[in-house]
Parts: sequence; structure tokens; C-alpha cells
Amino acid sequence: MNLVLFGPPAAGKGTQAKRLVAIRGMVQLSTGDMLRAAIAAKSPLGNIVGQIIERGDLVPDALVIELIEHRLDEAEKAGGAIFDGFPRTEPQAQALDSMLARRGQKIDRVIRLKVEDQALLDRVAKRFVESGRPDDNPDSFKVRLVAYNQQTAPLLDYYRASGKLTEVDGMAAMDAVTASIDQILLAGA
Ligand code: AMP
Repeated sequence: MNLVLFGPPAAGKGTQAKRLVAIRGMVQLSTGDMLRAAIAAKSPLGNIVGQIIERGDLVPDALVIELIEHRLDEAEKAGGAIFDGFPRTEPQAQALDSMLARRGQKIDRVIRLKVEDQALLDRVAKRFVESGRPDDNPDSFKVRLVAYNQQTAPLLDYYRASGKLTEVDGMAAMDAVTASIDQILLAGA
């Protein structure tokens, strides 16, 4: 089972992905986590993407596609992956489909966490104070929301057309969101 967790920044994708990993033993592939690890390690990739991420812009497609490609063996062995924060653009979605097709696999389900913009702004203001994540500052977060609305949200049509998209109320309590996702996955199993 390959699952895409879809939604704007701070919709709860990472939290829900970690819960699914615990419940189902799937592998979480978060490009955001991979990029932050590269920055922390001061690797060449980290040096390229640091400022882009801090501004709130998307990093180039080729870089994140490569990161994902390197993790697909591991995901296949685990019986599937939860793609968290990837794909974010149409070329990324197409690359993901091709990479999986070459392995005789596909995206089985896309779950969209729906959260209103104001709730996202409130959540992130709180998270910024608590974690101090640089790209959670109000200016960067606005850029991230614009990137989502302009470059990522159009992918919803792509996945809706393929019949793979299910929507979940991401404003509900965390446990209720987990329960909804679990039900969708059980129904599709
Ligand atoms: P996230 O933790 O998923 O919110 O990602 C944090 C930041 O990493 C984003 O604001 C982007 O700058 C970058 N990033 C993560 N995933 C991608 C992706 N799939 N495509 C482009 N940029 C990404």
C-alpha cells in the first residue's frame, strides 16, 4: 500500500504519518524531514536548500525526486510508504508515478487533510513559539501557504480524476483524524 498524505503545511500530515507508521509498520517518507536532516548535517544538499526552505519556497523538483528515489527500496521492503509532503508539484507527481510503475507499483490512495487557512496560521504561530522552526515564522509561513495554493493544490484534480482521493476533516481532534484515516485504509485494503 502506497499512500500520499496530502494537505497544506501544518495540516497534521507528519503527525498522522507517524501514527500510521506505529500502527501499520509502513515507512514514512517525508521530504521535509530529509531536507532538514541534510541542513543539520551541513551536507552539500543542505547548503543548497537551507535558504530556500527558510524563505518558505519550494526546493527544485529534481532534488526532492532524487531523495525519494533513494528510499523506494526500503519502502518496498516494508510493504509500502506514506508519502508526507511529497509530491508538491505536477512534475513530482508524474515522477512518483513513473518511479513506482518501474517497480510494478502505484499510489493506492491519496488522503487529503482539509484545514482552513486561519486554523493553519493559528497552529503555526503556536508551533513557532514552541519549536522555533525557522520557516514557521509568520512571513515564511505565508510564502509556504502561497506555494501550496499555487503549486500543490492543483494536484488535487490529478488525484481526484484517478479516483484515488479521499478527504478527511483535518480540523477534527487528532485521534478522530487518525480514526478516519484508518477506516479509509481498512476499506481500501
Ligand atoms: P514540510 O516539512 O513538508 O512542510 O517541508 C518544509 C519545507 O521543505 C517546504 O516548505 C519546502 O521548502 C521544502 N520541501 C519539502 N518537501 C518538498 C517538496 N516535495 N518539494 C519542494 N520542496 C519541499
